[in-house]
Amino acid sequence: MPPVVKYGLTFLYVQAEFGLCCPLSMTDSLTRTLRKFGSQELVDRYLDRLTSQDSDYQYQGAMFMTEQDAGSDVGAVTTEARCEDGVWRLYGDKWFCSNPDADLAMVLARPENAEPGTRGLTLFLLPRRLEDGSLNRYRILRLKDKLGTRSMASGEIMLEGAEAYVVGEHGKGFKHMTDMINMSRLSNGVRSAGLMRRTLNESLFIARNRMAFGRHLIDMPLMRRQLCKMMLPTEQARSIMLHTADCLQRADAGDHEAAKLIRILTPLIKFRSTRDARRVAGDGMEVRGGCGYIEEWSDARVLRDAHLGSIWEGTSNIVALDVIRSIRREGTLPVLHDYLQRCLDSIDLAQEERQAFDTVLMRLKKVAEDVTSGERNDELETRRVASGLYHFASAVFMAWEASQLGDDWRRLVLAKLVLRYRLSAQDPLESPAEEPVLIEMLLAETPISRESAKRL
Ligand SMILES: Cc1cc2nc3c(=O)[nH]c(=O)nc-3n(C[C@H](O)[C@H](O)[C@H](O)COP(=O)(O)OP(=O)(O)OC[C@H]3O[C@@H](n4cnc5c(N)ncnc54)[C@H](O)[C@@H]3O)c2cc1C
Repeated sequence: MPPVVKYGLTFLYVQAEFGLCCPLSMTDSLTRTLRKFGSQELVDRYLDRLTSQDSDYQYQGAMFMTEQDAGSDVGAVTTEARCEDGVWRLYGDKWFCSNPDADLAMVLARPENAEPGTRGLTLFLLPRRLEDGSLNRYRILRLKDKLGTRSMASGEIMLEGAEAYVVGEHGKGFKHMTDMINMSRLSNGVRSAGLMRRTLNESLFIARNRMAFGRHLIDMPLMRRQLCKMMLPTEQARSIMLHTADCLQRADAGDHEAAKLIRILTPLIKFRSTRDARRVAGDGMEVRGGCGYIEEWSDARVLRDAHLGSIWEGTSNIVALDVIRSIRREGTLPVLHDYLQRCLDSIDLAQEERQAFDTVLMRLKKVAEDVTSGERNDELETRRVASGLYHFASAVFMAWEASQLGDDWRRLVLAKLVLRYRLSAQDPLESPAEEPVLIEMLLAETPISRESAKRL
């Protein structure tokens, strides 16, 4: 399935159900990693079931990596792999295992006498049942009592000599697993985009239908402003998500530029949209008033689910550091810069509009280069750079989308708002004169003309 379709469907599905997106994404990314690095024999043995749509026949996937003392610090993994009579067996405890009863799991373990750190890790495929149908030697010790994602279990697993198969090269386990992690990070960014979309939809519906003081909520200036503040990150995430999915398709077809873009856009969306989803979900809860806090409505569940996105598959700090790593080690910044500039070149922007983009881009590039350069490896600035890159990329993608649509320039208006409110200094006491017009435009369900968009 093309990535744009896959993530488009995830975006829709997650608006109804967040928890089950985990097994879906785990199965999808495990299959991808197996095909990429696994032996032909393993692929032949499992691919048919992993890709089956028959729920009685299909196999689900999982990823068992985290241990009690090895979460962000994956190199501290202590699960041991021993080769006994020609069979690899795993011994150790995995502390967080979502979809723990999956048929197959990718597991990171350290073969006996392998070196410490990530370089000593090897990737293994762990089947729940062995070829003769018997259960493999591991136990789910306990299920986690989680804040959210309660529709999908996460547990602690003890590996007691479980049979497993090497995937890829010895000592390259972490590198191979990174592929699976990145797919899952992208999926998490998409899920956050979907959660924000659901929240915004619910909030708009409530605001248009509930009355207070004899008026609909949507007619009240402060509520209108609140809705627009939820709309902006929601639309940013949608544009980044679809553009990233499109890049993935090109990267998988062998396009080197797209591969570099994926390398940086994936942590960018995981970092920023999962954080934005927390705030948007909280704001949506407030739009419903007291009922938003009551479990009979969707808000509490969405809020709980939204908080997980920025924790699992790497916390915000870890993912922001990965953005910087991609720049420093894989040279992704100039590629992203040139790509965004080419996108801008393809849009028919007025001179002052283009200048606004160029001014921010020049500044952003300089800051990112400074922070990631050899002399000033400034970890403290990591999140600022990651946010800046995310915001700017989203603004360019939204402007580009507006130009593709041609008859509704709403997304260019949103892009300009990103430049103004996310990437430029604001006087907190100044009231922008055009704000009421802007809000009017964004909340009206009518197309925005090129002229109106240009005036802002
Ligand atoms: C519901 C749920 C399901 C999960 N499912 C799975 C699963 O299926 N498979 C799996 O392998 N894992 C799973 N995890 C584990 C998850 O990925 C880890 O919890 C997460 O990566 C953080 O690791 P940790 O809990 O050890 O926290 P720690 O690594 O101890 O981090 C604690 C804090 O320190 C910060 N920190 C750590 N290092 C740095 C640094 N260098 N700079 C700045 N700050 C830093 C972190 O940002 C965090 O805020 C799951 C977690 C949850 C909550």
